[in-house]
Order: sequence, then C-alpha cells, then structure tokens
Amino acid sequence: MSKPFLLSNLIDLQDLDNEIFKLIDEKSKGESVNILKDLEKKYHENNSLLIKKKDELKSYFEEKKILDKQIFESENKLKNILEKLQNPKLDAGELQNFNLQKSSVENNIIDLNVSIEKLNNLNAEELLNYSKVENSLEELKPNIIEYSKRIQSEWKDLDNNINELEIKKSKLLSTFPEDIVKFYDQLKHNGVEVIAAYKNEGQCGCCGVNLTSSELDKIFDSKYNQCPYCQGVVI
Ligand SMILES: [Zn+2]
Repeated sequence: MSKPFLLSNLIDLQDLDNEIFKLIDEKSKGESVNILKDLEKKYHENNSLLIKKKDELKSYFEEKKILDKQIFESENKLKNILEKLQNPKLDAGELQNFNLQKSSVENNIIDLNVSIEKLNNLNAEELLNYSKVENSLEELKPNIIEYSKRIQSEWKDLDNNINELEIKKSKLLSTFPEDIVKFYDQLKHNGVEVIAAYKNEGQCGCCGVNLTSSELDKIFDSKYNQCPYCQGVVI
C-alpha cells in the first residue's frame, strides 16, 4: 500500500515555487540588467534618429555617390594614362597626346573634388549632426556587449540554482497524486496567493481570517481542506 498523501507536502511544493520565482525575479531586476536595458533603449533611439537624419540627407548621399563614382573612374583613367606614358617607345605625337589626356583627367579630378567640397560645405551642419549620432551609436556598442557578457555570467549562478530547485520540484511532484498536482496548478492559475499553510490558532494560515469552529470543521471535512475565504489549503 502506498503511503497516504499529506496535504502538508503542498507547503514544500509552494516553498520551492516561491524560491524559483524569487530567483527568476532576481534575474530581471539586477543592476546590470537595468543598465543594459537603458543602453539598449538609447541605442534604439539613436538608431531611429540616424535613419531619420540619413533620410533628410538623402539627396546629399545620392549626389555624393555619383561624384565618388566619377572620381573613382577618373583615377582609373589616370592610372591607365600614366602606365602608357611609361612606354619608352612612344613618339613625340603620342607623348603629347597622352600628356594632354593626363592633364585633362587631372583637372577633371580636381573639379570633382571641388564639387564634393562644395556639397559637403552646403550640408556641413547636417553632416556634423549625422556623424555625432553615428559616433554615439558606435560608442554604445562595446558597452552593450560588455553588459550582456556581465549578465550572462551573473545569470550562470542563478540559473544553476534554479535548475537545482526545478529538479527538487520534479522529484517532489513525482510523489504527488495526479489530482493533487492538477488541484495545485488550478489554485496557482486562479491567483491564490498562499496555496497552503498551517492553521494559526483559529486563523486561516493562508489569508489570516478568523474561522469559527463550524467553519474549521467544514474545512477539515472537505477533500482538500480549503478555506472558504481564500481557497488556500489549511493544514
Ligand atoms: Zn484563508
């Protein structure tokens, strides 16, 4: 014959659950977690701001891209001409021709750089603001990484403790009849704050209400010894 189930086991289960809850709560309330949350909030704010500023500078970036491409192409052209000029077999006409091409491309590059400078000057203030936001985003990144790592190591111990408690809890639960497990889960689901507690003189140990002797009799006659006021189990 199996041993009869003692309702007082519910107190042990509840204690384990409370300890687990406390540790989970600790995980979300540590100082590092708060700092990380703040950093991430700042990061998202700055990122949105950066997107907004980028959009405001849309035509600048488009023009700049075109000019950059033109400079890149001209520099390649120049490189090509300079290589050709290295050839010792060039005749005077070819030499003159390449030299003319060279100075034309060089002038073109100068003009393009002037255009970029003008474009930059025209957008100087917006560009400065843009790079400020960009820099602050970059500065946030290493901090976010550092705090994520710190939290991971802080949580390691807490997670180990939670694991141990969870193992204890499953061991305890394996000794519980199925209907008791369901009953316990239902009370938790219903938001019963204290699920089981010892009677305190004439008071319900769960909610502290003074119970009459007939109420107490009713409680101890019922299947799960439930207090009529809080639904908690009176032991
Ligand atoms: Zn009660």
